[in-house]
Amino acid sequence: MPVSSAYLPDPRVQELGAEFADPVVAADFPMTTLRFRNERAAASVGLDTLTDAEWIAHFGRFEPLPGNLPRPLAQRYHGHQFRVYNPDLGDGRGFTFAQMREAGTGRLLELGTKGSGQTPWSRAGDGRLTLKGGVREVLATAMLEALGVPTSRTFSLIETGEELTRGDEPSPTRSAVLVRLSHSHVRFGSFQRHAYFQSAERIGQLVDHVVEVYYPELADETDRATALLAAVVARAARLTARWMTAGFVHGVLNTDNMNITGESFDYGPYRFLPRNDPNFTAAYFDTSGLYSFGRQPETVFWNLQQLAGTLTLVAPQEGLVEVLNRFGPAYRAELAAAMLARLGLKSQSEEADVALANAAFRGISEGGDRLRWEPFFFDWFTGDEARALGSLRGDIYAGEAFAGFRDLLKTFERDRPERLGAAYFTAAEPQELLYDEIEAIWADIAERDDWSSLHAKLAAIEAARAAYGLG
Ligand code: AMP
Ligand code: MG
Repeated sequence: MPVSSAYLPDPRVQELGAEFADPVVAADFPMTTLRFRNERAAASVGLDTLTDAEWIAHFGRFEPLPGNLPRPLAQRYHGHQFRVYNPDLGDGRGFTFAQMREAGTGRLLELGTKGSGQTPWSRAGDGRLTLKGGVREVLATAMLEALGVPTSRTFSLIETGEELTRGDEPSPTRSAVLVRLSHSHVRFGSFQRHAYFQSAERIGQLVDHVVEVYYPELADETDRATALLAAVVARAARLTARWMTAGFVHGVLNTDNMNITGESFDYGPYRFLPRNDPNFTAAYFDTSGLYSFGRQPETVFWNLQQLAGTLTLVAPQEGLVEVLNRFGPAYRAELAAAMLARLGLKSQSEEADVALANAAFRGISEGGDRLRWEPFFFDWFTGDEARALGSLRGDIYAGEAFAGFRDLLKTFERDRPERLGAAYFTAAEPQELLYDEIEAIWADIAERDDWSSLHAKLAAIEAARAAYGLG
């Protein structure tokens, strides 16, 4: 069956013109075996009615979707990688394939690829994605969505039958092409490229495009650039707070990996924290710990400073600095809000919310080695003290480290406590997504081509998502 009536194509990216992206051709893969299709995401853009054969034609061989981009567009961008400016970036193994409206919200979403072949921006790279990298991204996006983090969603994963050589995987290793559904592809680094070439005109053009397409509520602002920065600061504060309560370490927070809509994306060497550790680092190549768990807020602020710098070409500096400095207070407020959401509690006042969040973080950090990150949120969900004290970790919660938290908790109202009725909460342990489990899932695929543990894990994460109701 073809697309449904909920499919509303709206390829706006073409309006930007030749200085922003390059038409490219997808690789011709020797094999296209469907490994994962995201039915829920597909339904949100009217593509759930595609047969598997049609799905593969569009997301493995990249035949254009009706009324959409006639040719894929590889985006041009620059970026700071580990704080070093790199003017040689751009979509080196991906492209924008299609754009469409989301059913219900009307937001402009887009389908972009990872591993779809070489582009003018591939440098020495092969333009490919390893199947393992694809599987890891499928898992990351599912888990982040379940935990209430604004994230791109993995739309499709198709195995492509090539043998890849990688330094960080036993090689040769299998190949795949992944399609993600995101709310924009415009990166902080997209602005940096035009600032590098000192083009106020193109910065202005990009500001107008982003405002009109992604922040239409700002269209009447007299100083659109400053208003846009304010909005991005607010979204970035929210995203960072959500990472920090999800115990998520992105791993590669370069400016080309930060989306202008405050949506998290591009999951390479990420990790979820086993237990609290501000120094926990995800990427093996992050030898200085620049992107460690505890340094993510300052990293996001540093990245926002780079974005603000590009906007000085089109807006007064004082206003941009004022707006930039809202990040700290906004982050603290968002962190408290994120903590309350994860604990299933209603907000009381900013002061009380912050006090509870601080007490929770203190408990987590003093709780000792037996207290893992995710179980804390599972055990205390909707603030049921009896349930927490009766959990496998009840003795830890009964101790001194949690005394302040328990006292403050009594003054908070529970938010939708009926959520505890989900079968998910009758298990002794929550869903986590720790490194060893991902490795075990991958081993089943690599050694036996057994995909059942991946699909079982995705079903379990989906049950968690439905039970937490954080969406
Ligand atoms: P990433 O670390 O995935 O965010 O990628 C950083 C930059 O390297 C981007 O410009 C990518 O397009 C490019 N890149 C990463 N891997 C490859 C590859 N295998 N082939 C071509 N370009 C790549
Ligand atoms: Mg990237």
